[in-house]
Formats: sequence, structure tokens, C-alpha cells
Amino acid sequence: MKRAGLQQQRLKHWSNRMRVIKVGGGCLNGKKTIESIVDLIACRGKGHVFVLSALHGITDFLITSLQTALADETQIPVITGKLKTRHLLVARHLIQPKQNLKEYTRELEKSLGKLERLYYGLNFTRAITPRLTDVISSYGERLSAQLLTAILRSRGLSATCRMPHEIGLITDGKYGDATADLTKTSRHFKTHLSPLIGGDKILFLPGFFGTSEEGEITTFGRGGSDYSAAVAAVALNAERLDIWKDTEGFMSADPRLVPEARLIPVLSYEEAAELAYFGAKILHPRTVEPARRRKMNIAIKNTLAPDAEGSLITSRSARPKHVIKSVAYDTDIGILKVHASGVGARPGILGEVATCVANSGINIKSVVTSQTCISLLLARQDMEKARQALMGIRPRPFRKLDRLTDVALIGIVGDGIQHRDGIAARCFTAVANCRVNVEMISFGPSRAALYFLVKRRDLESGVNAIHSTFFSTPRCSRQG
Ligand code: ASP
Ligand code: MG
Repeated sequence: MKRAGLQQQRLKHWSNRMRVIKVGGGCLNGKKTIESIVDLIACRGKGHVFVLSALHGITDFLITSLQTALADETQIPVITGKLKTRHLLVARHLIQPKQNLKEYTRELEKSLGKLERLYYGLNFTRAITPRLTDVISSYGERLSAQLLTAILRSRGLSATCRMPHEIGLITDGKYGDATADLTKTSRHFKTHLSPLIGGDKILFLPGFFGTSEEGEITTFGRGGSDYSAAVAAVALNAERLDIWKDTEGFMSADPRLVPEARLIPVLSYEEAAELAYFGAKILHPRTVEPARRRKMNIAIKNTLAPDAEGSLITSRSARPKHVIKSVAYDTDIGILKVHASGVGARPGILGEVATCVANSGINIKSVVTSQTCISLLLARQDMEKARQALMGIRPRPFRKLDRLTDVALIGIVGDGIQHRDGIAARCFTAVANCRVNVEMISFGPSRAALYFLVKRRDLESGVNAIHSTFFSTPRCSRQG
């Protein structure tokens, strides 16, 4: 009975209505892995829309090559040569007959020719602008979409590819961190894409970027193809958004740190957003925004086990067996301590400090104040810039600044966590029992998360202590 139910659920998961499926760069790595993805697309992808990442490592390569191209013009053909080799290696393995391979090679050379001109432009103007960075880094996705389309076509399937700027994926024009205009994009997609979807057709779209109304290529930030896919799913009114990855789904903790971590089968939008924000590296943090608005489900599917359950993100908040869903962490953070006497009682000082930091384009993750100190929680890479900005305030409203970088953030995530009695107490008892000291506690604006800081060296013990308190038998690596 249970088995039949499960089977039915599976069938429903792969039902016929159109889905947008995002394929991550981790799945597009090497010719053998790509071959298995292509097989999966060929047998399960008909009638669906695929949003692709660049082949694994290509975006990093395009970005580091900006410096190379700036420093030495003669390296530019070497850069594009490497890209050509990498894509042709896959194409030679998967595209037949020769005529198709020839056509693909010509298309690849054309794209690389344009990219080459962009790198020369950069070298000539002696400037790596945000505009050029975005156009150049968008090439990874363009190339992967072209490649997969050519492979599927050579198998006799009806595959097409459209570039975001040809089909009006409109953004707010912010380089490196754009947001899509859902209304305009929906309108454009319906016009341009409807004829290309349905039946046995397979449509490929490169993820990661869109275009401003003025036609400027703008990216959604690193890992932004997930967000592209959510935008496409909403714009096309898909049945569901699937994220194909080479991992099981969201876990109750990072399995590298906590071996007994388990899969989270169902999460709410808020929980998924908190976990993504935390650098769980499963989803781009903004992916749930568009999906939540339309109450569209997001399924994380493991391409290595495509029939496995995976994680489902939905608005139905399942009454969980466990109070918390996951223990997450982030090591990419630091605290800037602003020492000043009577902080708690001096009106305006917090505002002055926060405004100054925010005005230099830095996001403050959290703030905690005491009588003598304001502690700003920042991304590690923003620490120095924030310090310099604050040192520039005249008259200086503080006595001194301290930087704390040997810290890590631990977060526990679960719907309604902040309203349930005793959760924080259980957490802190768990870490105290492992002789881990809590440096700073922060309640974020979310109802689904509670954060606190520990010393970097205590991270593993802290995460394990909390995980075992809420999920299983006690295990404490620093005890005894
Ligand atoms: N290729 C882009 C990156 O590596 C976007 C993505 O893969 O989601 O950041
Ligand atoms: Mg990604």
C-alpha cells in the first residue's frame, strides 16, 4: 500500500505538465557526467524547459581571465583556445554525425570570436568595468546552452536554445546583482517562448543573466542560475521548478561535519531561504522569492539517483517530527566591534554607524549592541572596507574599532523556532556541555532561524552538539 502510494507520488513528480528544470554546473562536468545528464534529459525532459549553468569551473575561469587579458593581450587567444578545447572535448564525444559536429564547431567559434573581442576591448580600454565583467561572465552559460542543444539535436530530438536577451528576460540593470522584472519578463516569454514549448520539444535557456531595458547584460550574482530558473518557471507558469543537482537535497547538517546528517524531505519557503542564505550552497538565496509569490513548489532532485525523494520546498509547512530542520553554519563572516561608552543610551550613534557602513555598499548581516559596544556582523570580505568607512567619520563617534575574524556563525533553522519555548536554552546547554563558548547571539528578522557565533575552532563541536541534541544520540567531539 505504502509502496503503491510512493510509486504514484513518483509518477506525479515526473508528470507531463511543463516544468522548468535547472541543471547545475556540478552536473555539467566532464564528458561522461554530461553524457549521463543528456541521457536523463532525453528520457525525461521532453516538453520541459531547461535552464543551464555553465560547465563546471567555466565562470571562475572567465572571471580570472579578466585580469589575464588586462595584463597581457597575447594571452587572449589562449583563453578562448582553452574554452574551445573544453567544449569540443564534450562535443566530440557526444555529437554525431560529423556534419553536426562541424556545424556546432562553427557556432562555438562564432561565440568565442565575440568573447575574444570583448577581452580585447577590456585590454584596450585598460579597465575591468562591472559592465564588461557581466557580459564576459555570461558566456559560460551561453556556451553550455549551445552545446547541450547541439548534442540533443544530434540525437534527433527537437531541441532549441534562446538567449535571455533575445526573449526579453528583463532586469533592473544592476550589474552583478540584478533582479528580474517578473511582469515584463512574463509578457515577453509568453510571446517568444510559447511556440517552442510542449509536445516533445525541449527548450534550453542559459541561466545567470538577463538584460536591462537598455539592453545591457546583467548577471544575478554568483550561483544565479537557480534564480534565473525560478524567474523562468514563474514567467511561464510552470507546474513546478526542479533543481537538478549532484547532491541529495537539503540536509539536517553539512554531512562533511556531521556524518549522521539526514535528508530534509519537505521545507517551507522561509526555511529554504534561511538555509540558502546561510551558504548551505544548495540554492541561490533569492531563488525562493519568485516561487513563493506564486506558491510554486521547488523540487531538489539528485541526478545521480533521479528517482530518489530529494527535497521539496513548498508553502505547506509540514508539522515536523523534529523541532528544527537543520543546523547550518557560515565561516565566511567576521565581527566589527565599535567601542564607545554609553552606546545603549546615546541616541543616534547606531544609526550613524549603520548608515556609514551601508552607504559604502556593505550589507550588515546583523547588529548587537551593549552599553559599551556595537557589534556588526559582516561578510568577511567586507570587514576592511567597513573599517575604513567608519574611520572616515568626523567627528569620530567611537573610541576604537576591533576586528574579530576567527569566528563562525551557527544557525538553527525551523519554522516558528523563535516562538517555541526552550529551543534556545536546549541549544546553549548542548554547546555549553561541549565547553563551547557562545560569543554573540542574534535573532534575525526571520521567524525560522536563530543564529549565534562561536570561535572558529569550536565550530565542528558546536554543530555536532546541537545536531545530536535535536536529531539523535549525543555525540560531542571535544568531551572526555
Ligand atoms: N555559472 C554561474 C556561477 O558559477 C551561475 C550558476 O552556475 O548558477 O556562479
Ligand atoms: Mg549553483
